[in-house]
Amino acid sequence: KAVQAPPKLNQVNSERIFSEAQSLLPGGVNSPVRAFRSVGGKPIVFDSVKGCKVTDVDGNTYIDYVGSWGPAICGHANDEVNAAIVAQLQKGASFGAPCELENTLARMVIERVPSVDIVRFTSSGTEACLSALRLMRAYTKRDKIIKFVGCYHGHADSFLVKAGSGVATLGLPDSPGVPAGTTAHTLTASYNNVEEVKQLFEQNKGQIAGVILEPVVGNGGFIPPSMEFLQGLRDVCTQEGAVLCFDEVMTCFRISKGCAQEYFGVIPDLTCMGKVIGGGLPVGAYGGKKEIMSMVSPAGPMYQAGTLSGNPLAMTAGIKTLEILGRPGAYEHLQRVTERLVKEVVAAGQAAGHEMCGGSISGMFGVFFCKGPVRSFEEAQQSDTAKFARFHRGMLEEGVYLAPSQFEAGFTSLAHTDEDITNTVEAAKRVFARI
Ligand code: PLP
Repeated sequence: KAVQAPPKLNQVNSERIFSEAQSLLPGGVNSPVRAFRSVGGKPIVFDSVKGCKVTDVDGNTYIDYVGSWGPAICGHANDEVNAAIVAQLQKGASFGAPCELENTLARMVIERVPSVDIVRFTSSGTEACLSALRLMRAYTKRDKIIKFVGCYHGHADSFLVKAGSGVATLGLPDSPGVPAGTTAHTLTASYNNVEEVKQLFEQNKGQIAGVILEPVVGNGGFIPPSMEFLQGLRDVCTQEGAVLCFDEVMTCFRISKGCAQEYFGVIPDLTCMGKVIGGGLPVGAYGGKKEIMSMVSPAGPMYQAGTLSGNPLAMTAGIKTLEILGRPGAYEHLQRVTERLVKEVVAAGQAAGHEMCGGSISGMFGVFFCKGPVRSFEEAQQSDTAKFARFHRGMLEEGVYLAPSQFEAGFTSLAHTDEDITNTVEAAKRVFARI
């Protein structure tokens, strides 16, 4: 069968704007992965977004599976969220003083997330994670923490640790500017390997403040946890008096109404949140048991603050987003369209002779160009990333916008219809035939 030539993608304006940005912003961007370095080619510069579609500055429209890296779960520029934001804007964007909207969003979070009795809002996921880290240490009076290879918890120094080759190792900084003394307290283990964690606790008796993980990995590509792993971590943390912290910045209110912890039935001591909780505006949060959260200033001695934290505009976007997600059928829709997408794309890839695997939970998914199953970041690295780059480019040419890295999960929204999924699968079939 003859392979069709790819449609030509007009990127003239995108290229001009990105080229100008090179002299204005480091690498032309304000967050590295946007620069497309891991897939090559020039990034697409967006002009507007609506529903599950994004439109670039050259007038090309794409079906989007990035969703602003997670927040756009109700669909981009959702009419109800927008109307709520506009109404609040008339009353002011930032107060720097208490407002009732903070109570409303806090109540919604506390009602939905099993581990959360009290919550503190921040302005980003990074802030939520670094505050949770400080709290784990303040509460236990211990310094060391365990994180997992391939899990991302924002860009605070302690989390930027070179991931060893799956062997539990003492942390080395991943970035210049991070003092080795800081990351010396960060121990790493392989995802889905509770034995390594037990060994680390054994070797560092009484010194480990807590364990932090993505309860479903999105930052190494989509990697689900085994039940034994999650329950094993819960048990070992309880035995050792350490804090179990789920970084649900990506999974909160996406995996289920009560987040990944409700989905798996394993309840951490602390939870970090972000993305969806702000409905597209900058919000993060951390919360947990009263006993631990009462350490946080001004209730307790652990200092943490924020000029824009809990600002009324961001609270409003979060409240409306969680309200929409609370309606009947929301998570069933996410589960159904996403499962169909992954099943059909992987089947099409395999039928075209590519080694592929993939998976999804609710509105979060991923595919790898390897046989799978992928249970850790080390296994994810076996994916054919050069082929992923060709797939990514091909999908762009066909009008589908995927995350520009093999090691990022994809996201669907309430705005993705069966027709969008069908069109995406058809696009993937054409691309599989030519990569
Ligand atoms: N934790 C996880 C699991 C994330 O996915 C991210 C961002 O992608 C962060 C923390 C950091 O959040 P932010 O980018 O809002 O600072």
